Amino acid sequence: FTHDGRGGSGFIGQSLSQLLKNRGHQVTIISRQPGQQKITWADVSKNGLPICDAVVNLAGENVLNPLKRWTEQFKQEVTASRIETTRTITQAIRHSSSPPHTWVVVTGVGYYPPSQTQQYTEDSLGGNSDFLSRLVRDWESAAELPGTKGKTATRLVKVRTGVVLGRNGGALPTMLWPFWFCLGGVLGSGKQPFPWIHIEDLCRLLCHTIEQEGKVSGILNAVSPSAVTDTNASFTGALSKAMGRPALLFTPAFAVQMLFGSDRAPMLLEGQRVIPQRTLQSGFSFLYPNLDSALNQLLR
Ligand code: NDP
Repeated sequence: FTHDGRGGSGFIGQSLSQLLKNRGHQVTIISRQPGQQKITWADVSKNGLPICDAVVNLAGENVLNPLKRWTEQFKQEVTASRIETTRTITQAIRHSSSPPHTWVVVTGVGYYPPSQTQQYTEDSLGGNSDFLSRLVRDWESAAELPGTKGKTATRLVKVRTGVVLGRNGGALPTMLWPFWFCLGGVLGSGKQPFPWIHIEDLCRLLCHTIEQEGKVSGILNAVSPSAVTDTNASFTGALSKAMGRPALLFTPAFAVQMLFGSDRAPMLLEGQRVIPQRTLQSGFSFLYPNLDSALNQLLR
């Protein structure tokens, strides 16, 4: 398998590479930096993909990096690091004489419009409510294989993931330290939906997608089954319980807005109720179907 990453070196990429190797697959990483078992984006643009069964794109500048100001330049980096890498792979697949059987682009549930009441399956409409949703729309559309639709041997799977909870990266580690000092609490009203998935379940789902050839295609929502009812407040409660620390304080919405700005604050102060309908229908079963099971395992 060739697993891409401007991402192979990242939080999800490292975990997925390890799982694929454990399952006996061979992994090549696409990165900005050359290295062992790595090729660069320039190599792919120039020479195409090496012979492989599947490609997964996990590249992307961290949108919620609080150290980066939300300038036009940073927005462009956020966009280009996803869309240009996706396009590079799409082009390479189109021009390959022996294309991979599977092409997986990992995007986000930010595709669906934020709402406290609406529930979304993979069939729901979205892609036009804010910066993030339009980014996901363009990112997924860059993954399409135009001109070869219906003729190509390659099957495209779009995996829309929620917040990925893991020990070694993503949002969770930065959320933990306030709790250690008994300073943890909800963000804003706490009523915003909290779509999430355990890193191990996401990587298992990506393997399932690659290995279940012919059974899985189109869009898959990568969120835990309980995520449709989980909120920022229920996550805060479960985290507080798992850590044995009180969650007495709260961060007011204006503080989040001051830190992240008006384009990014909604990513924390709003959310989507997402159902993994097609994911479950594809025969996938979750190891961590609710917050207690996920957080107890991660904080053990
Ligand atoms: P990471 O930030 O851990 O890693 C992403 C990788 O992208 C890096 O290892 C790096 O690879 C590459 N990268 C980073 N910045 C840039 C840049 N400016 N230009 C080009 N490449 C860059 O991300 P995650 O593993 O957490 O996420 C992977 C993908 O999944 C991302 O696209 C993200 O948007 C998406 N996602 C993640 C969620 C999460 O909760 N983690 C939730 C929803 C979606 P290298 O240095 O090798 O080039």
